[in-house]
Amino acid sequence: MQKCEKCGRSFRWKDVLFSIWQSYKPITCSHCNTKHTINFTSKFIVSFVILLLALVVIFYLAPANGWSKPATFGVALVVVFCITFTLPTFVRYEVPTTKR
Ligand SMILES: [Zn+2]
Repeated sequence: MQKCEKCGRSFRWKDVLFSIWQSYKPITCSHCNTKHTINFTSKFIVSFVILLLALVVIFYLAPANGWSKPATFGVALVVVFCITFTLPTFVRYEVPTTKR
């Protein structure tokens, strides 16, 4: 799990998850109030993984199972929602260099 760059305290899994849900909202360390933003690579990976999963559901799972459009959309949403729970383990945050 990601640690604060300044004081080394671990971010809570929940904080990282909520940050991702709120389109990568910066995380403020609960201990020293240092603001951390998601790094570019993590942002790219998250977007890529979500897009890839949505495409797999829409173009592979849905035609294979004969799902209707609302069902496909629902499944895609559930899959993406579930995968965001695993994201806090590999995304990386950093202190914005301009504010250091
Ligand atoms: Zn800190």
